[in-house]
Amino acid sequence: MFPDSIQNLINNLSKLPDIGPRAATRLVFHLLNQKQKELTELSSLIKSLKSEIELCGQCFNLTSKDQLCSVCQDKKRDPSKICIVETPLNILPIEKTKQFNGLYHVLGGLIFPSNGIGPEKLKINQLITRCKNNQSKITELIFALSPSTEGDTTTLYIERLLKPLKIKTSRLARGLSMGSDLEYIDEHTLSSALRERK
Ligand SMILES: [Zn+2]
Repeated sequence: MFPDSIQNLINNLSKLPDIGPRAATRLVFHLLNQKQKELTELSSLIKSLKSEIELCGQCFNLTSKDQLCSVCQDKKRDPSKICIVETPLNILPIEKTKQFNGLYHVLGGLIFPSNGIGPEKLKINQLITRCKNNQSKITELIFALSPSTEGDTTTLYIERLLKPLKIKTSRLARGLSMGSDLEYIDEHTLSSALRERK
């Protein structure tokens, strides 16, 4: 129905999460109405995206090349508390609650043996080393993982490894329903889950 260059772009955009063919078509026609300069800028940002981004050397959040992430760089943050999350996407909703002023540790996933994700694929060893190296500074580790079987398995696994270090650990309060994705939890619920952590 459309010229190939339009149809190909629609097909590619349809592969993005939450974008179906209909939304992709609307996006392409929106782009057709933009100035060439804006399209060039957009395409060059997409093109260089992966080469500009790295994982933070301390917490494994996303950051610009050769730099610690903005949270780790921030001198006003409290290094005695570390919040453990699954992906960098989980940091934003926690930041929005303004209930947490510590640092993060991004695991890069959850233990999920039937999908071939064992602890060695995650940044768990790095977390243990980080805790050992800062044992006197760290007073609390907060597990903010999804309330799911994988989230619980991962928390238990890490808690067992941390035991000899005698650092206090806590988890988000269970106002969160089982299986809910942390990414989509509203600010208010997350905020109270964080405040009432146990
Ligand atoms: Zn960082």
